[in-house]
Amino acid sequence: FDDRDGMIWWNGQLIPWREAKLHVLSHGLHYASAVFEGERAYGGHVFKLREHSERLIESGRILGFEIPYGAEEIDRACEEVLAANHMTEAYLRPLAWRGTEQLSVSAQQTRIHLMVACWAWPNLFGADRMKGVRLGMSSWKRPHPETSPTRSKAAGNYMIGTMSKHEAEAAGFNDALMLDWRGQVSEATGANIFFAIDGELHTPTPDCFLDGITRRTVIALAHKRQIKVVERAIFPEEMKRATEAFLTGTAAELTPVRQIGELHFTPGPITETLLNDYEALVRMSPAEVEAKLAA
Ligand code: PMP
Repeated sequence: FDDRDGMIWWNGQLIPWREAKLHVLSHGLHYASAVFEGERAYGGHVFKLREHSERLIESGRILGFEIPYGAEEIDRACEEVLAANHMTEAYLRPLAWRGTEQLSVSAQQTRIHLMVACWAWPNLFGADRMKGVRLGMSSWKRPHPETSPTRSKAAGNYMIGTMSKHEAEAAGFNDALMLDWRGQVSEATGANIFFAIDGELHTPTPDCFLDGITRRTVIALAHKRQIKVVERAIFPEEMKRATEAFLTGTAAELTPVRQIGELHFTPGPITETLLNDYEALVRMSPAEVEAKLAA
């Protein structure tokens, strides 16, 4: 991934992709003192850009550090990196991390770095996703919010995500569905989950995992369609009552689910309606998006 043309924004400067290298004694690498974002540009506009920049800043604060750029500057960095790479359709990855000044658990002296990269990444699950993806049940559980900074998009929270995803892939699935420490359904490794039950949309309360920007957007779109949305604790036994299931996330967008463990689902009218609404929304200008969701 490091040997390609392009530019990366790093601490205020655009530098060639191949030169964006880091010292091996960076605190972020050893102790996971790093937070990131995942965003998408459609037709030249980054969807919900300000919300992503603000979430990045808040993710850092939860880990006890202040990113030395404000939301407006981070927005501009994202726009600059898109322009420098001549891209209008892209996935963007801002990352903030502690540097090399101190390598111990205590890291008060470290500099906080910020970089933003972007590349073409059409969809997390590829072109086949419309048929629905298959999820295996993870053997790892999402931790209690007092065990891990679950509201931060912190690199360390992704360790169990990668292990879960690899476990699922080894068993022939596309991704893993994770339960939380209570045994309740939480989310996939990089996306939130929804179920259609009796014509309503049910989704787990995000009390120990990311309340995704896509998740909130899809809830707003469902309200526009007069589809009732219920946020609640969902136990795995209840999933067999669902007639449809789908994932939401910046990289996953809205992706139908056709299997979870032994259970099978068929993408139906609720999934299709919201998928079409979401795809139309992301292609609107930021002002149109706001008007559409507010009206
Ligand atoms: N959960 C996890 C673990 C994720 O990595 C993501 C992607 N950021 C999401 C949920 C969905 O969040 P969003 O819709 O803001 O991309």
